[in-house]
Amino acid sequence: MGIQRAYPDLGKCLYFDLASGTHCVFYELQNKKLNWIWYVNQPEPEVKGASVTMKVSSDMIQNMHEEADKVWIPELVKVIKETKDPFLNFIYDSDPLEKIFWDNVVLVGDAAHPTTPHCLRSTNMSILDAAVLGKCLEKWGAEKVESSLEEYQFNRLPVTSEQVLHARRLGRVKQGLVVPDREPFDPKSATPEDSKEELLQRNTPFFNDVPLLAPASIPTSI
Ligand SMILES: Cc1cc2nc3c(=O)[nH]c(=O)nc-3n(C[C@H](O)[C@H](O)[C@H](O)COP(=O)(O)OP(=O)(O)OC[C@H]3O[C@@H](n4cnc5c(N)ncnc54)[C@H](O)[C@@H]3O)c2cc1C
Repeated sequence: MGIQRAYPDLGKCLYFDLASGTHCVFYELQNKKLNWIWYVNQPEPEVKGASVTMKVSSDMIQNMHEEADKVWIPELVKVIKETKDPFLNFIYDSDPLEKIFWDNVVLVGDAAHPTTPHCLRSTNMSILDAAVLGKCLEKWGAEKVESSLEEYQFNRLPVTSEQVLHARRLGRVKQGLVVPDREPFDPKSATPEDSKEELLQRNTPFFNDVPLLAPASIPTSI
């Protein structure tokens, strides 16, 4: 009830809470559960093994609770403190690739465009890859796999590349990090005009209108 009072649109939206040099996102799931993520800047960790998800020690949890008291409002702190087994996930992305197929090998999803989660697009991007790839294979048939893959790449690569770079930039802005063409963002000194457009989720490229196949959808060399 406390968190519902503090964030009255919970259940109808995602909340992004911004503080100096950090931010968190949280939203309600089914069955009265809350999902929350707290983004923390830190030096690049040394990843051991194949997983980027790490269990955390009780000392780290204690430290997080103390930090939360300094940064977030009590209602959110309560949720953080009552969460059993919080975990740490390293976040990586990758510069957009120039190609996402070679002969009859093709990349889809995170393999094609690992992205930071700041635009909340990752799964959506993967599903759209599959949808477009399916349409291209259907259009060209088994005889012309290369044409299918060329058309898939032609349609998806520009879209996902823009989305990856936008997510990277949005994350850096919200975390108060340096971005090339603006002053570091601090919500305490920012004006609504200063930050509104740039931070809105719906300004993610292709947020509402991802073309499944562009009308003139294939380079003429094929
Ligand atoms: C903690 C966390 C939270 C996330 N939250 C969200 C969210 O809220 N919304 C969102 O949109 N996205 C979220 N994502 C991202 C989302 O999970 C991925 O973008 C999505 O799963 C990518 O789908 P994929 O099929 O490309 O890759 P994956 O789901 O990673 O699937 C790849 C599969 O390949 C298998 N595999 C790997 N290597 C081999 C091999 N050599 N041989 C055979 N199989 C292999 C793996 O086991 C895995 O099953 C989150 C990711 C993490 C880690």
